[in-house]
Amino acid sequence: MPADAQVAVTLRQRIGKTLRYWFDTTHDTATGSHGFTAADERVEWARIIPFVLLHLACLGVIWVGVSTAAAIVALVLYFVRMFAITAFYHRYFSHRSFKTSRTAQFIFGVLGASAVQRGPIWWAAHHRHHHAHSDREDDPHSPIKHGFVRSHMSWFLSRKGFTPDLRRVRDLRQFRELCWLDRFDILVPVVLAIAVFGLGVLLDRTAPQLETNGWQMLVWGFFISTVACSHGTYTINSLSHVFGRQRYRTGDASRNNFWLALVTLGEGWHNNHHHYPGSARQGFYWWEIDITWYLLSFMSWLGIIWDLKTVPVQVRDHSARRIQPLR
Ligand SMILES: [Zn+2]
Ligand SMILES: [Zn+2]
Repeated sequence: MPADAQVAVTLRQRIGKTLRYWFDTTHDTATGSHGFTAADERVEWARIIPFVLLHLACLGVIWVGVSTAAAIVALVLYFVRMFAITAFYHRYFSHRSFKTSRTAQFIFGVLGASAVQRGPIWWAAHHRHHHAHSDREDDPHSPIKHGFVRSHMSWFLSRKGFTPDLRRVRDLRQFRELCWLDRFDILVPVVLAIAVFGLGVLLDRTAPQLETNGWQMLVWGFFISTVACSHGTYTINSLSHVFGRQRYRTGDASRNNFWLALVTLGEGWHNNHHHYPGSARQGFYWWEIDITWYLLSFMSWLGIIWDLKTVPVQVRDHSARRIQPLR
């Protein structure tokens, strides 16, 4: 085969592989996470085109403008999906800090997937790895070791980031529906985007006084809301290991930060969390606002979830690792 033709075939194969990765993550989950080299930590530009487009699409606001209805939908979807990430991807799938039924577990997975932070197995595997190596060389997103940009987002844009260590999530992989959700993690966000667009079209026809339409609703309800929710979540990996106060000597740089706790519905009590990761409640005291915990308590009262774990008082107040006196 002539050299030109060979180059064309190779290029076609590479494009085909990239497109397949966008829709089907099988290859990631099959490879495990052994023997990575420095090259595997470089950003995979072809693969992350959807992530770049997600951000660029926010610029659509220049053309579509804004309406109260679109802004409200954006806020509601931010809140619901941030809750899904903190309550389900983090406190449930990563730390198993409460119990639920298999059906509810799958619904929680679908809700989490709508936040465009990949599937629950991928998310939990990396997060468990973070706790095992927090702020050490092998931490996937330590701002202390690797700087702000990598800790905030470039860590998950590389081949290493795309490939979770599946040995850490054997408990989750026994559920076929979760494996399926993880494999086709793009599906739920696509369905949500179409639904949000459809809502805008419907409101345009049935309630023209709201002055919204499909494209405006798509930009606000999906793109802007998703980007805000994503970067809000990323702050826990980046800023929460730099800014704030340390109550406990956890051996890493995790901090408690009131402002990040507001933005992330309770995740900002990150030093508390590293001190006792198994607790479904991260605001350890009544004055530490933890909206996710309030909603989880309500769901437990309704009987949707049960066996919520909390931090034992001894561990909270009298731990040898405590460095701030009790107020
Ligand atoms: Zn952390
Ligand atoms: Zn955690």
